[in-house]
Amino acid sequence: MDEKNSDLRVCAVSGDANDSLTRRVYAAPERPHHTAFKRDCERIVQARAFRRLAGKTQVFTSRASDHFRSRLTHTIEVVQIARSVAKELGLNEDLAEALALVHDIGHPPFGHAGERALDECLKRHGLRFDHNIHALRIVEHFELRYAAHRGLNLTLGVREGIIKHSRDYTVAQYPELAGYLLDRRPPLEAQLIDLADEIAYLTADLDDGVESGLLEIYHIREHVDLLGECYRQVEGQHAGVDTKYLFNEALQRMQNVLTDDLIATTQANVRAIGADSLDKVRAHPERLASFSPLAESQRQQEKRYLYETLYTSRELSLEHEKAEHVVTDLFNFWITEPDELPAGYVDQIESEGLARVVADYIAGMTDSYILLQYAQVKRTVRR
Ligand code: MG
Repeated sequence: MDEKNSDLRVCAVSGDANDSLTRRVYAAPERPHHTAFKRDCERIVQARAFRRLAGKTQVFTSRASDHFRSRLTHTIEVVQIARSVAKELGLNEDLAEALALVHDIGHPPFGHAGERALDECLKRHGLRFDHNIHALRIVEHFELRYAAHRGLNLTLGVREGIIKHSRDYTVAQYPELAGYLLDRRPPLEAQLIDLADEIAYLTADLDDGVESGLLEIYHIREHVDLLGECYRQVEGQHAGVDTKYLFNEALQRMQNVLTDDLIATTQANVRAIGADSLDKVRAHPERLASFSPLAESQRQQEKRYLYETLYTSRELSLEHEKAEHVVTDLFNFWITEPDELPAGYVDQIESEGLARVVADYIAGMTDSYILLQYAQVKRTVRR
């Protein structure tokens, strides 16, 4: 460990007996050469819900290009960024990797449109859908890989990070999360995941947006300052090279600028309050992982641009409408015909309630599987 990082490493996993991030609900014999968090990485990668990320929308539901990101390829990009940041900050890279691997595991089919539709359906039953809470249900209950217990038996550090990586929850709102220290901030490894996620998708969505034909490079250069600046640098060094290659390299540079900024700003924040223990990171009222004011304003400008030009474009709005329609119709069908649910789900209705069980079933589906179910249900209804 070099001197630069020496005062940061303690912020990672130095929990004491009362705050042990490596604690599991069920005893698991240690394995030589495997850290607790590396084992969690393996458990997550081997989960069925993780494999289904390959069939879930990131932004584009249509299969118009083989090069669009899925939730799985997006997840791999987040892992790369999270590990780099964790390494530079002297944090626990295995914990950061496990949290990045699992961060989107609770997403339903059809991206945010699917999540919105499921949430609207549940609201009519006095419930809500939240992908972080759903991710916790997946790793604690739905995955069946062990003879002795349900769930993946992940460490406390990973389960806490699933809940807290992108937002704070209160015990008043979510009494079932009382065991996750909701009044305290999560470790830095969890704090950085949401920002690594932002860096990954802000870069990828410009790329996929151009691939789709909905965004144009010249327009992005004019309206996204950070990308425009990176593009000018690349153009100055590689005169005469095709625009597409200059754009690709500019995207890479933009990702590097944001990643370097996250590392430097977080490091400065940690030093500014003398956070030399996990306890101090937890006790600080604000999250210490952040961008500088300049990078934050550039991030916000790019996000606004993506909302205005891509996420709310006519083409994606039509995809979203169709997705919401499919989710809502299927939800309503199984609410009125619960016997049509698979037997394993029917068994859970008594303890979980019908609406939650239907939402759990739908949330687990890939884009192609839900469309198959939709076609079958339409045939059933017509009969
Ligand atoms: Mg994500």
